[in-house]
Amino acid sequence: MSDAQKRFVVYPGSFDPFTLGHLDILERTLRLFPKVVVLVAEDGKAGLLSMQQRIALIQAAVSGLAGVEVRGFSGLLVDAVLDIGAVAVVRGLRCAGDYEHEWGLAGVNSLLASQVEFVYFLARPELAAISSTLVRDVFKHGGSLAKLVPGEIDAGMKKEFPSR
Ligand code: ADP
Repeated sequence: MSDAQKRFVVYPGSFDPFTLGHLDILERTLRLFPKVVVLVAEDGKAGLLSMQQRIALIQAAVSGLAGVEVRGFSGLLVDAVLDIGAVAVVRGLRCAGDYEHEWGLAGVNSLLASQVEFVYFLARPELAAISSTLVRDVFKHGGSLAKLVPGEIDAGMKKEFPSR
């Protein structure tokens, strides 16, 4: 295996739940890197699914993609990145608000570990409105998730919360 083939990246996030926007970023990342570790944050925003539920659902949604590993993590992102030996962190940018958030995140992380590089993908316009927060709202009120999340996530959420 060449050095380039050994280079892998992490795609961290809350993924509560994993959406079609997340899937698109993951698929595009796989065109540039042979392996992506999806890092599911244990703590963060008050959400819907536990870390174990999120990991299981993402594993089901990405089972057809070669080169994807799904893991949970807690603590500092840069520690997780250095620990597993990834060359970069992948993030998605949907709008100016995301840019501001990512600007702070990358800035502080580079002060903590300047060797950890960040790579950004601009959201596809047709998927840029999708956020996990809005998906949770739609789900809470019984709306269809068909155009918002992968089929496995839709089915898995219905199974986890049959009364919704
Ligand atoms: P976090 O809590 O770390 O922001 P998210 O699960 O909300 O975690 O998002 C993970 C990453 O995916 C972030 O970089 C976010 O900007 C990006 N992202 C979220 N939704 C989309 C989308 N619809 N299109 C492209 N990127 C997205």
